[in-house]
Amino acid sequence: MNKDIFLSNSLGNKKEKFNPIDPKNIGMYVCGPTVYDDPHIGNARPLIIFDILFKVLKCKYGTKSVTYVRNITDIDDKIIKSSEEKKIPIAELTLNITKKFHEDCNYLNCETPTHEPKATDNIDLMINMIHELIKGEYAYESEKHVYFKIKKFRNYGVLSNKNVDDLIAGSRVELSENKDNPEDFVLWKPSIGTEPFWDSPWGKGRPGWHLECSAMSKKYLGNTFDIHGGGRDLIFPHHENEIAQSLCANKTKKFANYWVHNNFITMSNEKMSKSQGNILKISDLKKKYNGQVLRLALISAHYSQPLDWNEKLMDECEKTLNKWYNCYVTVDKKILIQDNDLKPLYDDLNTPGFIAVLHELFDKAKDGDRKDKELFTTACKFIGLLSQPKEEWNNFKKRNLKISEKDILSKISQRNDARAKKDYQSADKIRDELFDKGILIEDEDGKTIWKVK
Ligand SMILES: [Zn+2]
Repeated sequence: MNKDIFLSNSLGNKKEKFNPIDPKNIGMYVCGPTVYDDPHIGNARPLIIFDILFKVLKCKYGTKSVTYVRNITDIDDKIIKSSEEKKIPIAELTLNITKKFHEDCNYLNCETPTHEPKATDNIDLMINMIHELIKGEYAYESEKHVYFKIKKFRNYGVLSNKNVDDLIAGSRVELSENKDNPEDFVLWKPSIGTEPFWDSPWGKGRPGWHLECSAMSKKYLGNTFDIHGGGRDLIFPHHENEIAQSLCANKTKKFANYWVHNNFITMSNEKMSKSQGNILKISDLKKKYNGQVLRLALISAHYSQPLDWNEKLMDECEKTLNKWYNCYVTVDKKILIQDNDLKPLYDDLNTPGFIAVLHELFDKAKDGDRKDKELFTTACKFIGLLSQPKEEWNNFKKRNLKISEKDILSKISQRNDARAKKDYQSADKIRDELFDKGILIEDEDGKTIWKVK
């Protein structure tokens, strides 16, 4: 498609035309999960948003021209703490949670990134980066720790619009005896007791979290690349620190050209957090909803806006998909999605705008011919919806029914008996009863068929 892609760039805080460094080799790095606890719905939003951006970039520049890197943080203080609390060895915990994370990605129908590096496989790169930073006097060693000296980096605060002096003055971080400034952040820290460690010139220890992403993005995408993504909560300090480390260690002026951040998910307008006790795990939602329902719900608001999560939203999305599946057809040949239909996605991933296009295509398809249905199905599939055949979608719904198939058939038989006796009142009562349990019955050509509402 000839049309340009626009993105909201947090660096500079404005919507900008996307100009890749090399259109044949586009790089996107997205901060992946820290694998210490079961993934929740807040983790799912960036997964889906950047999956869609990956699709849009591939559509414009070609499948082979886009490299998408999403890391796995498998060493971090949170992991160590969680391992102690759960009494599970770290290696087992991170393996389990990574497995769950991948299951959730499948459930949400997200494509696998081009590379998915683990922090623990790249410790040597992090150590090299610390060497460079110490050499350039951007970092200093102090009591087996290595810290980044934020005062040395003039542009510190460029992404989050913060000023170094204000930060230091307003710091609530207690000045630890071994830091020059309270806001200096850790690049390397010693491991104590049974904590996992790697050998380094500064003693046995492990890297700071921020450094992991700087090292892994460099490995796969080079010193300067196109897009860096993540949740908005990562802007400060995580992304600010990534910029500082990468620019100083690589001696470059640019790290990522476009910073794309998704907004939060709230629950009944309150921020989701562990302390509020309103964390919704994906594994729990899985029992009730098809992954496509979550996917549609998560793209119902623009990524830069907060999204309020509630049962009503889920029910509406389920209803929409039920309706859309009536126009689902198998698409064998290559049908191309129309340029015009893609316009909202090119314009800063306007997913609500694209959903409006899908509704229009559906309206055309429901009274149209097979070609209209093919176009509609193709457009839905582009964004990862109607990803399963209709039977699978229906089977999933049957799984959640509060009544067995045997009981449904027995009720239908009772209703037919009542109708034969012209006892329409009882027949209607049975139909209503089934309706309340999610079953719709229809009489066609002397036969009664049932389907899930
Ligand atoms: Zn990161």
